[in-house]
Amino acid sequence: MRRAYSIVVSAGLAPALILGACLVLAVSPTLVPAELSGLVRYGPFLLAVLGGAIGWWFNRGRAVFVMLLLLVCYWLLVGNGAGISAEGLAFLRIATLYLIPINLLLLGFTAERGVLNPRGIARMLVLGLQIFVMLMLAGQPDVGSALHRVLDTRFFVSTGILGAMPHPAMIISVIAVVLLLIRHKPLETSFAAAIIAIDVATVMGSGIIQYGYLAATGVVLAGLAQEAWRMAFVDDLTGLPGRRALGHAMAELGNQYAIAMLDVDHFKKFNDTYGHDVGDIVLKKVARELARVGGGGKAYRYGGEEFAVLFAGRSAERAAEPLDALRKRIAENKITPPEKNKSVSVTISVGVCERDEDTTDPWAVLKSADQKLYQAKQSGRNRVVI
Ligand code: GH3
Ligand code: MG
Ligand code: MG
Repeated sequence: MRRAYSIVVSAGLAPALILGACLVLAVSPTLVPAELSGLVRYGPFLLAVLGGAIGWWFNRGRAVFVMLLLLVCYWLLVGNGAGISAEGLAFLRIATLYLIPINLLLLGFTAERGVLNPRGIARMLVLGLQIFVMLMLAGQPDVGSALHRVLDTRFFVSTGILGAMPHPAMIISVIAVVLLLIRHKPLETSFAAAIIAIDVATVMGSGIIQYGYLAATGVVLAGLAQEAWRMAFVDDLTGLPGRRALGHAMAELGNQYAIAMLDVDHFKKFNDTYGHDVGDIVLKKVARELARVGGGGKAYRYGGEEFAVLFAGRSAERAAEPLDALRKRIAENKITPPEKNKSVSVTISVGVCERDEDTTDPWAVLKSADQKLYQAKQSGRNRVVI
């Protein structure tokens, strides 16, 4: 339950809020004062340029690609900057309903390759080629309208929501959204939300599309911000918050708390015997256990094979209970290194210290916990020392 909640908050909440806000604006346009209506119309351009620039800055080629795609599609649809005929425009409107989910789905399943390097540039050329072909087709009434008929298919006679979009595009969108959401990553989730935004706006009818693009560019921008936040605060290997996040949390501690320092025993030997990759598997396993240590403890990767756990509002004695249970669980849960027949046990040592009148600075408390950890090592390892 707690996990489900944290997933919604970490990945789904911002997109849901942005989509919701744009939906409210779309159904009640009078909420936007007339003087600000230009903001809605030009907002998608603004957000796409901003998102593209930030994506470039963070070397996030996929985000730059999506922002450019949305920018060009929106420009073609509302700006009509290319001087396209009404039929050409109708074709483009249908074509974007395919282009956007297909591109976003493919991007969601490709690795990040950065921006200004051969692969990143090749990707941009693929985008440019798609736009070029679309424009060529839109300018050719015969081919364009034939293709338009093919793309604008309905599998059965339908009205209302089911009739508002070509059925193949609807199916592709649903598949793309589901697959992207399953990935559980901020940027991929935002891609899914962008597809939803554009499809919902399309289904709702003409005159609404700017709200769809406003939401789409907004969610991808938020996804980018969320990913940047993760890059800064979450450790890549273990998924636990890292040292920077620990610093922030330490600054927010009150007058009663305990801090634990935790270190994997004989880890160097483990690495030397089974290899660094198996060592990484062990770290992930320890981190997984630590993430649900209980007792209100919040775990951080301090560095290497060392972790810190903060227990706000707890004494060292009460913090030691869940930690000792965790130590036992890890020691009993043996792991079998790949290509080895026997399983090996991994143990941890823990030092815990609480804030008291003599030690009020959280970093001093952490240092004392580290000294207790040293004692735990000296007295034989695989134990918790208070
Ligand atoms: P002790 O029981 O006294 O803690 O012994 P130890 O061998 O665990 O202590 P030491 O600090 O000497 O070794 C820590 C080792 O952790 C050294 C380094 O190779 C390994 N290590 C640090 N970070 C990582 C990592 O991200 N992945 C892997 N696989 N190993 C790491
Ligand atoms: Mg160590
Ligand atoms: Mg160690």
